[in-house]
Amino acid sequence: MEKLLKEITPKSQDYSQWYTDVIKKADMVDYAPVKGFMVMKPYSYRMWEFIQAALDQKFRETGHQNAYFPLLIPEHLLIKEAEHVEGFSAEVAWVTMGGNEVLAERLAVRPTSETVVGAMYSQWIQSYRDLPVLINQWANVLRWEKSTRPFLRTTEFLWQEGHTVHRTAAEAEAETRQQLGIYHEMMENLLAIPVVAGAKSAGERFAGAIETYTLEALMGDGKALQSATSHFLGQNFARAFDIQYLDEDGTLKFGWTTSWGSSTRLIGALIMVHGDDKGLRLPPRVAPIQIVIVPIGRGKDREQVTRYAKLLSEQLSATFRVKLDDRDEFTPGYKFNDWEMRGVPLRIEIGPRDLAQQQVIVARRDTGEKIAVSEASLPDTLANLLDLVQDTLLQQARQYQQENTFAVENYQEMAHHNFKGFFMGDWCGQETCADQLKQETSVTIRCLPFDTELAGTGCIVCGRPGQHRALFARAY
Ligand SMILES: [Zn+2]
Repeated sequence: MEKLLKEITPKSQDYSQWYTDVIKKADMVDYAPVKGFMVMKPYSYRMWEFIQAALDQKFRETGHQNAYFPLLIPEHLLIKEAEHVEGFSAEVAWVTMGGNEVLAERLAVRPTSETVVGAMYSQWIQSYRDLPVLINQWANVLRWEKSTRPFLRTTEFLWQEGHTVHRTAAEAEAETRQQLGIYHEMMENLLAIPVVAGAKSAGERFAGAIETYTLEALMGDGKALQSATSHFLGQNFARAFDIQYLDEDGTLKFGWTTSWGSSTRLIGALIMVHGDDKGLRLPPRVAPIQIVIVPIGRGKDREQVTRYAKLLSEQLSATFRVKLDDRDEFTPGYKFNDWEMRGVPLRIEIGPRDLAQQQVIVARRDTGEKIAVSEASLPDTLANLLDLVQDTLLQQARQYQQENTFAVENYQEMAHHNFKGFFMGDWCGQETCADQLKQETSVTIRCLPFDTELAGTGCIVCGRPGQHRALFARAY
């Protein structure tokens, strides 16, 4: 008996339910025994591995090395940087027992690692010759969240966190920008997700940072997702953790530090930016399976077609990530739906007639277009089509972002768009205006985009002269 592939809720009907349906039916996650935690199944974990590989290569090319710091942080270290501890205190989980004994000092499960890294760096750094220190860690962190959604906000998540120390403010600032640039390139080239880059306003900065730079992406429901951040920490953490070096001139100076991170949340962005009512649509560069081959035919034909499909699958596997779906228990129609749900960029259909004509049918997941391709030109055509799908998804996402970015002169105008989309407006720089906006509309300042100018129309909340052009949106 063929299992029924239940339909997913249409995006337009209930976006949140659509998201939940997709991640479950595409076999990406399962809910864990502890509330707020998730199991990343192989299909989504593979996507994370592609993100890791792309970033790791860039980190290495820019002189960074990987290391690993402990999961547990003693309380006295976590509370050393005042703003930092205030920012995280509500989210920290504590270990208070070791075996049967109550611990003399409680240990925090890291919500992020600036404090433990800072404590180690203060021991490792003595001279200006020890600088810069450029280290990245791939790890899990834990933040006790009240409401969670798979990938977007989970109590435990996987990420990378870079921690660097520099001799000058200018060097640290340049590092902060460079790392944001690496994320930016990865988002667009690998995930086909366009972003707006900018600085966070003071109220939205990372706890303890002088500057936080961010990439903001627009999701399919008109909400923003903060996708990666890079922090210029000034000397705040260096002072708190006593990271000092003897400079060339013989004086003792505090180092300048940065930290930067991106997480499995990016997989949530991938789903929400590209998915449609049939399920996922994966950019080929991050797709665990790029091409699925479905043999079609009955009886004697079937045997012959399947034999050919197997051969083709073996040949193409040298170049592409290929899956042969020769399951007997499902009809081709069921298989088409199944692989469309999982977002596989290209599908090859082979029937007896195609076999006779030495051709196959290739269907694109992004556009639904089907074309006949001769056997001889198949490898080249597939390579071109994968590039085309990758580009098309980025172009579509870019167009969606453009069509849903609105310039506003006052915040009431956002209501005309049901508060969905990116809103560009002038802001006076007062946190009171940002707070009022948030309370009344749930809209927040996502960032102060780089390279933008004031429109001169006054703060969208209070009407006083603007200090910054800002990107406003409701956010995940
Ligand atoms: Zn204002």
